[in-house]
Amino acid sequence: MQFSDLGLESGLMSTVEHLGFTEPTEIQQQAIPAAMSGHDLIASSKTGSGKTLAFILPAMQRLLKNRALSKKDPRVLILMPTRELAKQVYSQLRMFTSASQFKAVLILGGENFNDQVKTLEKDPHFIVATPGRLADHLSQGHFYLNGLELLILDEADRMLDLGFAKQLTQINNAADHRKRQTLMFSATLDHAQVNDFALALLKKPKRIAIGSAYTEHQDITKRFYLSDNLAHKEALLEHFLANESYQQVIIFTATRSDTDRLANVLIENGISASALSGELSQSQRNQIMDSFSKGQNKVLVTTDLASRGLDLVNVSHVINFDMPKHAEEYVHRIGRTGRAGSKGDAISFVGPKDWVSFKNVEGLLQQTTSFDSFKGLKAKFTGIKPKKTKKVKPSSDNKRTNQGKSKSALPVKSNNKTFLIAKEAGDMPVLRKKKPLPADKIESSDIEES
Ligand code: AMP
Repeated sequence: MQFSDLGLESGLMSTVEHLGFTEPTEIQQQAIPAAMSGHDLIASSKTGSGKTLAFILPAMQRLLKNRALSKKDPRVLILMPTRELAKQVYSQLRMFTSASQFKAVLILGGENFNDQVKTLEKDPHFIVATPGRLADHLSQGHFYLNGLELLILDEADRMLDLGFAKQLTQINNAADHRKRQTLMFSATLDHAQVNDFALALLKKPKRIAIGSAYTEHQDITKRFYLSDNLAHKEALLEHFLANESYQQVIIFTATRSDTDRLANVLIENGISASALSGELSQSQRNQIMDSFSKGQNKVLVTTDLASRGLDLVNVSHVINFDMPKHAEEYVHRIGRTGRAGSKGDAISFVGPKDWVSFKNVEGLLQQTTSFDSFKGLKAKFTGIKPKKTKKVKPSSDNKRTNQGKSKSALPVKSNNKTFLIAKEAGDMPVLRKKKPLPADKIESSDIEES
């Protein structure tokens, strides 16, 4: 299938051609015609699969073809979980709106409120926003959604995990009319709250699942290295940077303080590195992202919070200096490389403290991993064997009450309902109920500040 088969308006086709795209990606092939025919959608797709154009193109087409329901109200609202992500979608959207009569604006938490009020007064056709700040403007009557034609929720699972359910409901209720179309994208459709929301928000939606968001990225090679401790991880990293060729590298660490520390270690070793840490102001973060995307720095050290927002084609390698706490995050991290069909390499260091997370990733990817090693840097650590569970003779008591059940016999899930916590190596995983984090508990300025 070619883009020219999709029946897009000629103005849109010129921009697509200008971008050099000829063939729609799989999600675009399925989502664009379904959305253009007016259906509500719930779709899952891998990161980096071309999802953004899968909703921008039908949105533009709709505005070009249909008369507005209202002269003042926004016609399309696109909600994203983080500021970085919203900015990237906005910049793709601007490529299309700048050649049209349509006005698009970006409304993010953490930015000047009054400036945004003035922006909203100009009656934009498109709003790209993070939900918290937008809901504030809505509550204060700075704009209305009675004429909204298309509501797009991107990374809906992430927005719900961040605790934006209330704001999403408020926004939905403000735009609750018969003619509204809703497109909902989520990394996974296997998410109870996403499904509840889909039932509440969508009308007879078409369900599109392109592979699994968690199955193997075709273009990304995955390597895992066992490591003994922090010093060993640094030696592995140093070896990689000194001996392998790379364009740009994103390194993920467990905490913000590790981010700064590691970037300093690299700089001391003559590597052009920067740290994207949560303590920075938004303008400092923008500056760092800008210089990294222009190639001025070779290495960016960051935490998970930046993993979804970055769309940089020159990132040849992602390094998990520490494994992510949640297995799903691994997929988002490695999706920062291998963008737009280019090859990528994802390297993970697995020490004793990473073991539980590593096993969860292995389970999610449904693969058994063999470990690589660099010459002279083989780890002594070989993994943690699962503890043998003693067979407890069922007494008549524990048969009835189940008290004889060992911890390791508990079900282990890596989905959003439950997750494993191990404080230190060798700790038995403890099964806990995962509560969605309230937005103010997220440790990064990537998440909007209202
Ligand atoms: P996304 O999943 O929307 O973040 O897109 C990932 C990358 O793929 C972005 O750099 C897009 O510009 C690029 N892209 C989107 N659609 C296509 C296409 N049909 N052909 C080639 N690249 C594309």
